Amino acid sequence: MAKAQYVYQFGGGVAQTTVTSKDILGGKGAGLMEMTKIGLPVPAGFTIGIPACEEYFKAGRKLPKSIVDEAKVALAKLEKTVGKKLGDPKDPLLVSVRSGAARSMPGMLETILNLGLNDKSVEGLATKTANPRFAYDSYRRFIQMYATTAMGLSKEPMEEMLSDMKKKLGVKNDTELKADDLKKLCEDFKAFYRQKKGEAFPQDPLTQLWGAIDAVFNSWEADKSVTYRRVEKITDLKGTAVNVVQMVYGNKGDNSGTGVCFTRDPNSGENVFYGDCLINAQGEDVVAGIRTPLKLVELETKLPKAYKQLCQVRKTLEKNFKEMQDLEFTIEDEKLYMLQCRTGKRLPAAAFKMAVDMVGEGLITKAEAIARITPEQVEGVFYPIIDVAAVGAGKLKELKIAQGIDAVPGSAAGKLMFNAADAEVETKKGTKVILIRRETSPEDVGGMFAAQGILTATGGKTSHAAVVARGWGKCCVVGCEALDIDEKAKTLKVGGKTLKQGDEVTLNGTTGEVFLTALPLKKPEQTKEFKTLLGWCDEIRRLKVCTNADTPRDAEKAVELGAEGVGLCRTEHMFFKDFKNPENSEKRQLAIQEMIISDDVEARKKALAKLLPFQREDFKGIFTAMDGKPVTIRLIDPPLHEFTPKDDAGVQKLSKVTGMSPEHIRLRCDQLHESNPMLGHRGCRLCITYPEILDMQVTAIIEAACECEKAGIKVHPEIMIPLTIDKKELKILVDQSRAIADPIIKKNGAKFHYMMGTMIEIPRAALLAGEIAEVAEFFSCGTNDLTQMTLGLSRDDAGRFLPDYVKTEKEGGKEIFAYDPFVSLDQSGVGKLVKMAIADGRATRKNLKVGICGEHGGESRSVKFCHSVGMDYVSCSPFRVPIARLAAAQAVIEEKAAAKAAKARAKAPAKKAVAKKASAAKAETKAPVARKAVAKAPVKKTVVKAAAKKTGAKAPAKKAPAKRSTRK
Ligand code: PEP
Ligand code: MG
Repeated sequence: MAKAQYVYQFGGGVAQTTVTSKDILGGKGAGLMEMTKIGLPVPAGFTIGIPACEEYFKAGRKLPKSIVDEAKVALAKLEKTVGKKLGDPKDPLLVSVRSGAARSMPGMLETILNLGLNDKSVEGLATKTANPRFAYDSYRRFIQMYATTAMGLSKEPMEEMLSDMKKKLGVKNDTELKADDLKKLCEDFKAFYRQKKGEAFPQDPLTQLWGAIDAVFNSWEADKSVTYRRVEKITDLKGTAVNVVQMVYGNKGDNSGTGVCFTRDPNSGENVFYGDCLINAQGEDVVAGIRTPLKLVELETKLPKAYKQLCQVRKTLEKNFKEMQDLEFTIEDEKLYMLQCRTGKRLPAAAFKMAVDMVGEGLITKAEAIARITPEQVEGVFYPIIDVAAVGAGKLKELKIAQGIDAVPGSAAGKLMFNAADAEVETKKGTKVILIRRETSPEDVGGMFAAQGILTATGGKTSHAAVVARGWGKCCVVGCEALDIDEKAKTLKVGGKTLKQGDEVTLNGTTGEVFLTALPLKKPEQTKEFKTLLGWCDEIRRLKVCTNADTPRDAEKAVELGAEGVGLCRTEHMFFKDFKNPENSEKRQLAIQEMIISDDVEARKKALAKLLPFQREDFKGIFTAMDGKPVTIRLIDPPLHEFTPKDDAGVQKLSKVTGMSPEHIRLRCDQLHESNPMLGHRGCRLCITYPEILDMQVTAIIEAACECEKAGIKVHPEIMIPLTIDKKELKILVDQSRAIADPIIKKNGAKFHYMMGTMIEIPRAALLAGEIAEVAEFFSCGTNDLTQMTLGLSRDDAGRFLPDYVKTEKEGGKEIFAYDPFVSLDQSGVGKLVKMAIADGRATRKNLKVGICGEHGGESRSVKFCHSVGMDYVSCSPFRVPIARLAAAQAVIEEKAAAKAAKARAKAPAKKAVAKKASAAKAETKAPVARKAVAKAPVKKTVVKAAAKKTGAKAPAKKAPAKRSTRK
């Protein structure tokens, strides 16, 4: 069996491998290899691949001998290519030793430059270059980097020694230090090293090299890297590669320099060359911000020949990668060297502009443009973010007081308000407020709506606060267990600080962080390119995208964002707030409360009659906003006690309206209390017990539809029964609904068609979907409850312990789930029920319409799943409609790519043996999963000539104070 390959060589215009996979070479290694292949000026070197990093850790942080031997051979070849020997006292080869994971982890992994310098070779370098200043500058940098990176000494003392020397000599810049000064500094650094390590600074170049390689591998597991991967949710990377590359020098004088640039502006997306450079400097000077860099265009006048060549490189690279590239270059004596290229990071709006522009330029197809956009970039176009540049990253860290669960992205700043009423009052005065609650409930919606952002101590991503805030695109942080809230005293204790009502905080709903003070925020814009790209998504997607909207205002917003109907209107949200006429909110609340505490049917009917006009008006508004699009209205869903008065003032008000004594009202409220409200008297069980509620709601829906039709608005009402558990139960309610609806339609001479359907949100309903479809004309999968009930995990409380299930072992979790099942659909469990319900339902009723309205309907992975199981539509909160449009289009693209790949695989065995070998090599270069295969049976080393044909390129859970559900 062929020996596994771990080290890959490039140089002298030749890349000695066909491997291009970043999973093997790392991003930097792959870039160097590709640039070599396409004939760009790249210094010679070799890459010790990521599989070697895995072997290094497997062997207990030791590089196996076979890999060491391979690297030695590569070093010998590098020396031959360059014509110099590592650390040669007369004319040394010097190398950089750089990290490179498959994806960029800025500043997290280590780099060592100028390796190979020692007391002798520094003299050789000085003589050879006739530039002792340059030689000693390089040596002092190497000693400092090696001592800190490979040997663990702290950076500051050596930084201080440098700045003390500058002070003593009365100079400002490092460049003003003379050769002798730098020589002295090297001596000081070495003396410091000896004092700290008890031995001399290593002089043997090979010892230096192995030390540096170890340092790079070890940086993969350093605390900051592990934390970065956790924060960035990077779980699929296996390690870092090590790139050993011939040093080239930007610090040789005024005809040398270095820079970092982007082939397009990463902030605006404009097709302009963008970046910074420094004359007479090494790369880390630009990154570290030691000197103020020049704008890249200034290079045109300073080093015109190199600049011209760089502009050509920019064009070649974009043509080759068909993507914006982030580049690092060095100019040594006016000669350009490319040190790195990788796909550049960009701001969300810039991502849209670049993708759309590149289609216009013929670089990529529309499908490629769509595939390139991420859900986070879509979100980034909507939500305000903290202006980190204005605050300063260090300061931001200091101001952080707590970490919660990132429920709704974006940021919000304002004064803390401890209850909804105060939040509303202060907002009316023009104050920006953050509503802070242990948990929210339906009675808080007014204050939640008024607030800039919502912060709760409990709850998960489908808790009441999260669901409601998401509907409005309002920043929300939940489950922030460290908050010790005293709602009565209106104080908050956190991290040794006490905050009171009116103190300012800022929330970052994208990360779940809470900061002291009101920080400056930036509001992104929706650009024309954003709209263009989403328009392309609409051209290719099969899934329809609807919205979860409870008010005409939300429905209008959703249409603006591309919604094709309302997939869920939660009618109970209308009971507490009149968004059009806020002065009517109290009337609504009192009417629903009167209905709930009624002792008999007649009293209940009287109260319901007061609610009817409100509901009818709301439905008219939604039908109008959706003119011609389907509107799915769900009948009452949550447990009734969620609507009962919570304090004495509320009881007194209700007593006045109903004439009932306060004692009797309290007694009725107690009677309604449930130990387990999520599994209690909720959903359609309410209408089984109190049919008059259904009568009122169906009347309001159908009358609203009739009035709209008369006014020339097209209506397609779909009446949805929630929490169905049985066909007979559903039939009772559907028959009753039709008995109410049909006569109203007849009386009005209306022509519209309405549908009756159900939610599939209880496992039994999914299991009996075949029977249920005999009655239901449509299914809407309520995956919030379906997840809760299938997993047996409370959607309100699971946020406390789910991190243990989701975090990786390295992050202190058990990695039981890859994703939070309330966020990204549990495809193997809940998804199986969904799949089965669709199949069984459609076996009964061929044209059964099926959609999803749980929070998963706006999450990219879940939307792709919905596509794959043949749903007709997804429904999500208005601000997630564009994410769903994108994901639905990406699902089509991915499906086509998978079909094409399957077809290619099916054809492959028919090919001749030789062709098979070639295509295997090609597949290996593209498929990231091919790494193991390579280790077992490496691709025969192939020399690819420069510019040759492109190969394609936990805190312990606190007890909840009350058992009241916080659902909505
Ligand atoms: C669901 O359970 O998925 C759903 C949409 O209903 P709600 O969130 O209102 O319970
Ligand atoms: Mg539900």
